[in-house]
This record gives sequence, structure tokens and C-alpha cells, in this order.
Amino acid sequence: MNSIFSQKGKEQLDKIIKKGVLCAFDFDGTLAPIVSQPDDARLPDAIGKRMATLTQLTPVAILTGRAIDDITPRLTFTPAYLIGNHGLEGIPGWEKYSSMYRDLCARWDSTLRETLPGWSGNDSGIDIENKTYSLAVHYRHAADPDKTGKALLPFLKKAAPDALIVPGKYMVSLVPPDAPNKGIALNELMTISQAPSVLYAGDDITDEDVFKLKRKDLVSIHVEKSPASAAPWYIETHEDMIKLLDDLINRLQSFKATRTG
Ligand SMILES: [Mg+2]
Repeated sequence: MNSIFSQKGKEQLDKIIKKGVLCAFDFDGTLAPIVSQPDDARLPDAIGKRMATLTQLTPVAILTGRAIDDITPRLTFTPAYLIGNHGLEGIPGWEKYSSMYRDLCARWDSTLRETLPGWSGNDSGIDIENKTYSLAVHYRHAADPDKTGKALLPFLKKAAPDALIVPGKYMVSLVPPDAPNKGIALNELMTISQAPSVLYAGDDITDEDVFKLKRKDLVSIHVEKSPASAAPWYIETHEDMIKLLDDLINRLQSFKATRTG
């Protein structure tokens, strides 16, 4: 894993940042800093302004675990593609799957609310969030989050055996097993947009589905150095996102200047 700001990283950006490049981002921990209450997550002005500029220069996609209704008011710019629930919502043409996923999710939600109170590992800090097409079980506020997180996995597997259990940061997602993930969503967006290349930045386990894609036209960047990640590039901290966006904007503006001038 190398810094995207290294000489090698710059050369990689030289290769893939071209006219019409799709610039795709996760939201929490990538564009917005992680906060202890997921509901408090806000896009910093410095990043919002740059994203607004970027959307004027090239197609932008946001791929988030949040529901579309949840993410929309948090954005101060309009991306060309807004994909929610790790790819379950927002892919043009894939609406037909939505009602199937919604029913499945409603069933898991009621099962968990019935069985959780009687479970020996229950903790008042566990919070179930029904994201319509997937379920998020948060445990950041449990008395011993690490212990609760470990115990939750077998409990959830038993309570919702037909769900794909995806661990995240102090949360576990229950996702329909045949549902698209961020990697599938990104591949689909590349087909739809016909973009010549793509840059992706993310920070979570669900972003690994993108990081694992073997596409020569993809540069994927992990926010914070993480040797366990399949992403070949990283930025050191969330604050470096500003530097990365400035670099992308400069490159894309120079194409525009060359074209018109
Ligand atoms: Mg994230």
C-alpha cells in the first residue's frame, strides 16, 4: 500500500484522470468525518465546496451504506449517481429488486426486535436501524463494544439465517444475500456512465468490494493506511481528502483549459 501523493501515486493519477473519469466516494469516514452518533455526520464545508466544483467537471458518484433518504439531505452538491444501502438503492434500472429486499428486511427487523430482549448478550447500547433495504445493528454505545460485537455475530446469524452478515465499524449490516455490493454497483455505474476510468475512495469493510475489483482503469484509495485492505493506495488522514480533491480539480480544470484554449 502506497501513498497516493507519492511519485508512484501521482503517476497512477496521471494515467487514469482523464476527461469523463468517474470520481466515486464513500460518505462516512471518507467525505464526512466519523462521529459517535451516525445521525450527527455532516459534510465539512471545505469538502462540500470542492465536491460541488468536482461535479461541474466530471461525473461524481456517492456509494454509501446509508439509505438514499438519509444521505440526500447531508449532501450540499448533486452527484450524477447516488447509490444507497451499499448498492441496493439508486442503480438505474435495478428498481425491480427493491420491494423484494424491503420485505426481507422488514422480517429481520421484527425478528430481531422480538428476540433481542431475551438474548443473554443484550445491551441497552445496541441499536437496530432499519435502512429499508438492509438492517444496521449498531453497538458503539454498548458497555463493552468489542465483546458485544463478537457475541452479536453468531446471534445475528442464528436470528436471520438468510441474511448476509457484514461487520462494519461498531456496527453489523444484515444484507439480502444476492444483493449488489459496492463493487457490483461500481461495475454497473462504469457500464452506464461509459466513463473511461474511475477513482474510488473509501474507508470501511464494505468498500473492500470495490478495492478487490481487478480493473486496470480503477485507482482505489483507502482513507488511512490499512495494510489489511486490498486498496493499493491510501491517504494518511481524513483531512487529506481536501488535498486529494484539490489535485483532482486542478487536473480536470487543466483539461478544460486545454480544450477551450
Ligand atoms: Mg465509510
